[in-house]
Amino acid sequence: MPIRRNAVSRSRASDVTPAKIVREEIRALSAYHVPPSTGLIKLDAMENPYALPPELQKELAARLALVTANRYPDAGAAELKSALRRAMRIAGDFGILLGNGSDEIIQIVAQSVAAPGATLLSVEPAFVMFKMIATFCGMRYAGVPLEADFSLDVEAVLAACERHKPAVIFLAYPNNPTGNLFDIEDVRRIVAAAPGLVVIDEAYFAFSSQTFLDELDRYPNVVLMRTVSKLGLAGLRLGLLIGRREWIGEFEKVRLPYNLNVLTQAAATFALGHYDVLLKQAAQIVRDRAVMAAALEVLPDVSVFPSEANFILFRVADAARTFEGLKARGILIKNVSGAHPLLRNCLRVTVGTSEENATFLSALQASL
Ligand SMILES: *Cc1c(COP(=O)(O)O)cnc(C)c1O
Repeated sequence: MPIRRNAVSRSRASDVTPAKIVREEIRALSAYHVPPSTGLIKLDAMENPYALPPELQKELAARLALVTANRYPDAGAAELKSALRRAMRIAGDFGILLGNGSDEIIQIVAQSVAAPGATLLSVEPAFVMFKMIATFCGMRYAGVPLEADFSLDVEAVLAACERHKPAVIFLAYPNNPTGNLFDIEDVRRIVAAAPGLVVIDEAYFAFSSQTFLDELDRYPNVVLMRTVSKLGLAGLRLGLLIGRREWIGEFEKVRLPYNLNVLTQAAATFALGHYDVLLKQAAQIVRDRAVMAAALEVLPDVSVFPSEANFILFRVADAARTFEGLKARGILIKNVSGAHPLLRNCLRVTVGTSEENATFLSALQASL
């Protein structure tokens, strides 16, 4: 006869299922999907297509060889912050919070303000992580639809502010996946009426004609988020939040002390020392964006939305068919058609190298 020691606790243990323990709203989610891209030209994730020049790669390798991986990283990342201040001309009176990508910063901000019943507000379509992270943090989420041309529906946002009293509003400037810059006057009206914090997400600042940085000091309820991901350093995972020290000081308490590893700190500090190289690559992408937009505009049955980012949103007759046609021809872009009614039959393509863009354009013609 088998000995049934611990029978009671074992049967209790077998009652413990994810359905009982994991929050319902988490069980209802699907994990953020990253499609496989092996063997494909990768124009789906707003990556900069250019590597560092070979001589800088060599120098970087030498720096990384000297990194003290046996010690914890500098929790305050002082050197990296100075490099960011110099490169992005961030005034000394602002504080800086660093995140493992700006995704982590969104999470830190949400965790900091997620009192029971608190709302995170954004517009739709926008960056999907705003809503996902609100859910992770147990916040309510309110998404206000944009106009059909993807401009802000200011009256609707103001009404939603009145109704939900959002603790925090996230606005991407330029917006993803639409690519446009919101009218600055519209943004200012929302900032003036917001009952809580407003986070301006400038993930695409390097490709945009506008930034909020120059007027940040005018608004006590605004902080500005950036990332180096779209600037050629996506693999390092580094985002930053710029703002008044009162805000940054609170968020610092929620940040895990060693969120930026030694390799990221060393590599990003080095790369930011050659910021001109990254900006030159961004300028090339902006020129190639104009070429690509012009080529898309002349295609029959394609409509192109204006972009101030390193990607272009366009509408075709049948997004699923065109997406699959491109993939069959070796090109991966993003089908955003199902993400929101305003994005019906829309595809998003990242601007790559001139050669990649040319390959994409001819594959697209064959896939329409
Ligand atoms: C890509 C993107 C981010 C995320 O950037 P990471 O720093 O790589 O986490 C944030 N906001 C918007 C609008 C983006 O498109």
